[in-house]
Amino acid sequence: MEKYILSLDQGTTSSRAILFNKKGEICAVSQAEFRQIFPQPGWVEHDPEEILSTQIEAAKDVIRKSKVDIKEIASIGIANQRETTILWEKKTGKPAYNAIVWQCRRTAGLCMELKEQGLMSELQSKTGLVIDPYFAGTKVMWLFKNIPGLLKKAENGEICFGTVDSWLLFNLTGRHATDPSNASRTLFMNIHTGNWDGEILKMLKVPAAILPEILPSSGKFGVTKKDYFGEEIPVCSVIGDQQAALFGQGCFKRGNAKNTYGTGCFALLHTGNTPVISKNNLLTTIAWDRGNGIEYALEGSVFIAGAVIQWLRDNLKIITSALESGRIAQTVQDTGGVYLVPAFTGMGAPYWDPEVRGTIFGLTRGSSRAHIVRAALESIAYQVKDLFTSMEKDVGNPIEVLRVDGGASKNDFLMQFQADLLDISIERPLVFETTALGAAYLAGLTSGLWENIEEISVNWKSDRCFSPIMKENERTEKLKKWHKAVKTARMYV
Ligand code: ADP
Repeated sequence: MEKYILSLDQGTTSSRAILFNKKGEICAVSQAEFRQIFPQPGWVEHDPEEILSTQIEAAKDVIRKSKVDIKEIASIGIANQRETTILWEKKTGKPAYNAIVWQCRRTAGLCMELKEQGLMSELQSKTGLVIDPYFAGTKVMWLFKNIPGLLKKAENGEICFGTVDSWLLFNLTGRHATDPSNASRTLFMNIHTGNWDGEILKMLKVPAAILPEILPSSGKFGVTKKDYFGEEIPVCSVIGDQQAALFGQGCFKRGNAKNTYGTGCFALLHTGNTPVISKNNLLTTIAWDRGNGIEYALEGSVFIAGAVIQWLRDNLKIITSALESGRIAQTVQDTGGVYLVPAFTGMGAPYWDPEVRGTIFGLTRGSSRAHIVRAALESIAYQVKDLFTSMEKDVGNPIEVLRVDGGASKNDFLMQFQADLLDISIERPLVFETTALGAAYLAGLTSGLWENIEEISVNWKSDRCFSPIMKENERTEKLKKWHKAVKTARMYV
């Protein structure tokens, strides 16, 4: 009998399900979108019941489409949008409130208060994070402050907290658990010990009774209740989406790195068995625990990457599709001295500047649409270069290759320019669904589809490799101008 892994890829805008075979190939895909709820400017919520129902719908659809027998599904792997926070009643499973999404900025004031109390350095050294509304911790605090009676119930052990992985797992299997990659994004976990941190919980006035059990990312999480799929299917992995992509890209060893070029960019560098606390404004995160100890990563994100191409298309209307951007950029030799700093929503790592705004430098009468399109594409690569410069400083070693995925990594011009700026090779895989694949691999390692990571490594197939060709002095000159542009943009506030 053939064996398959069903991967549930619960994302920010849609719930997807993908069935993989032993070669790591996609057999079927299904996707269901759900509502984005914006109750106030800067606030973002999801309905937890919709997250669950769309995820089940996608899973059932993929099983139907692929025509596999349920018994052929060896296990389920879960990869999920991270940090999004849900509290629910233990007895009934009823959510206490909507899910507060990672993008939601409602706790900015609360974060400011915590910073003013001088908690930043202790929290960073224990959790690897910075105090920011992005992470689950202050979202939980907000819920306790704003929902009457909720804290009392939580103290009595009647409330469960979870990120989306826990919410799905609780509903699918009845078990209240999470994995270290998700737990490391809450602000409640000590990433050195891999346990919830009692002192932090006391400091933030969060009752320990609400927390899920932390289990290895690859292991036995329980079996799905029979009513979902007609048979019990074991859930054998749980992992946050970016870490899942790192695994799906075969970045198993210290020094391996991946970058996802989507709306924004998420870069992760595997740092081995010891956490590297960043001195250059990056986050330290748990990559995964395969059941044989915690592995760590450094993480950095760029807010506006593919989004700058959307802006060219939807706002400036100088391109009709993202695909066209690469061809237009190559109709000119260079940007003609044009530099675009796409700081539409401030800048992420390593700048962390919420005030800076987008700016175009170096315009002349000769500047054309092609120069601007090219400058926009190049700006994505410059921002990623800055991230990796910080990563290299933190680990003290150069990165040797970068594996890429996400919509904008399909752009050959961008990938070549990126290889030139980083002065390393870039490898683009054939299978782009690296997030779902990572969860599938971790599940399959437990359920016996793969024996070890060596067996998985051979599944990684290259679509194309980009080698650097730019001369050192040209690179230096371009980077100097880019940094001057960023510096000048930041002065204009
Ligand atoms: P997300 O998961 O963040 O929605 P995707 O991985 O689906 O992102 O990628 C979509 C993004 O990639 C969009 O912002 C789009 O503008 C950009 N994009 C897609 N194709 C290209 C391309 N050929 N060149 C440049 N950018 C592209």
